[in-house]
Amino acid sequence: MERIFNGSDLNQKTIFDHPSGLFVLFFTEMWERFSYYGMRAILVLFLTSSIMNEGWGWERQDALELFAAYTSLVYLTPLLGGILADKLLGYRNAVVLGALIMALGHGSLALEGIEQNFFYLGLGLLVIGNGLFKPNISSIVGQLYKADDPRKDGAYTIFYMGINAGAFLGILLCGYLGEKVGWHYGFGLAGIFMFFGMLQFYFAQGIFGSIGVKPTNKSNTSNSKEDTVKVSADANHKKIERDRIFVIVIFSIATIFFWWAFEQAGGSMTIFANDYTDRQLSGNSAVIFNTINTVITIVPMVVITYVLIKLFQNIFQSYFISNFFLGLSFVIIWGIVIYMLNAEIGQETSEIPASWFSVLNSLFIILLAPVFSKIWASKYNPSGPIKFGIGLILLGVGYLFIAYGSLGIPAGAQTASVSVMWLVYAYLFHTLGELCLSPVGLSYVSKLAPERLIGLMFGIWLLSSAIANYLAGKTGSYIDAISSEIGLNGFFAIFALVPIGAGLIMFLLNGKIKRMMHGIK
Ligand code: GLN
Repeated sequence: MERIFNGSDLNQKTIFDHPSGLFVLFFTEMWERFSYYGMRAILVLFLTSSIMNEGWGWERQDALELFAAYTSLVYLTPLLGGILADKLLGYRNAVVLGALIMALGHGSLALEGIEQNFFYLGLGLLVIGNGLFKPNISSIVGQLYKADDPRKDGAYTIFYMGINAGAFLGILLCGYLGEKVGWHYGFGLAGIFMFFGMLQFYFAQGIFGSIGVKPTNKSNTSNSKEDTVKVSADANHKKIERDRIFVIVIFSIATIFFWWAFEQAGGSMTIFANDYTDRQLSGNSAVIFNTINTVITIVPMVVITYVLIKLFQNIFQSYFISNFFLGLSFVIIWGIVIYMLNAEIGQETSEIPASWFSVLNSLFIILLAPVFSKIWASKYNPSGPIKFGIGLILLGVGYLFIAYGSLGIPAGAQTASVSVMWLVYAYLFHTLGELCLSPVGLSYVSKLAPERLIGLMFGIWLLSSAIANYLAGKTGSYIDAISSEIGLNGFFAIFALVPIGAGLIMFLLNGKIKRMMHGIK
């Protein structure tokens, strides 16, 4: 058999021109993100719900602070998790251990009704587990391919689709169970799928062959270009390595600007949706909204079920236990989806929930990721810094829509009712920008990192999300103070102009950065 990819013989069998192992990772990451975003979706709602509604009755400010601390800490620990995998555990063990710890974390959250400390224990376990899991599963994706395989950008884009399929379903289903049935059920559901996802990965590991078993400083799989190209002088080798690490740092700094603005989604953009838009539905618009809602739930389910069938065709017999848990998870998810849609069909919706808009992001990613994966594989594939620049500018344009839409709102106004379409356009452009920057960024980290430091480099990449999430929460909390001075349009214009400025700087640095990448495309 011709070995185009790293990993086992079975991994050479392709799905959409990519190795089967990519889709094992696709589903593991899907379940992990299902639990991460599902839990995130109900965290603040749970804390601020009254004790009568089985919440903790916290002030909104306190809940948002805990939320900001949590979402930034989960991206801080990958730095340690990456180093641990590089030096000691190997990437696969780190993924399994991290997934197990997160499953326990979600389980612990579900027990908060018995003892409040379980809740904090749960959050702590999630922060630790994510540190072990996230950087290392991301690095295995790249290790499936030979060093100079041009499919890597596309691979990370497909992987990113798995991330968002999980986010989409998690927000929808944990949100639904949490709010309608009980918070414990929402937290518990997140835990069950994290556990099944861990089993699915554990029992399918053989497909990766020797990839990620041992820490990289002890293994001999070749990953980065300098290992395949004979470098004559050691000093030259060191310089190339240093330059490429420097490029990873520049890309990471650019993403701080990106996520800082992007992550207003969970904060000031949701406040905008809640207080300043007209979400009322009447007559025909209620019927149309319900129909759209049903379609956008079913379509992603059909898409990922199709991917699942493709994977089953290749590896079902060889990895039965893994696929059993994967199939079982799908049966449960389909069951909940059908139950939920059925229960909602008869209901008169009179208002679009403010939180509804944030699922548009994951939905657009699932629909558009295949298009972008095609573009990156075509002759229209721009250089890394240009992609980053375009991504930042598209994000800024998204905020221009909101800034423009809120032009008529007087400074200091507490409510208004502008069209919800501004939010839809904004999320569309944010998603287009994200696809130019985030999956591509993972791919560049995998291509630029020296083999022995790949976990650490992913840790640094994710560290930028930690900083950005923290700053996003801080800036968002000044929404009232800023908009009483320069209006809501002025407030959102900040999130338009800063990323656009950062994007233009990336364009200017293009030549220099390209040289420092030393041949990596
Ligand atoms: N949405 C992506 C994920 O959850 C990227 C998040 C980030 O890096 N801030 O993996």
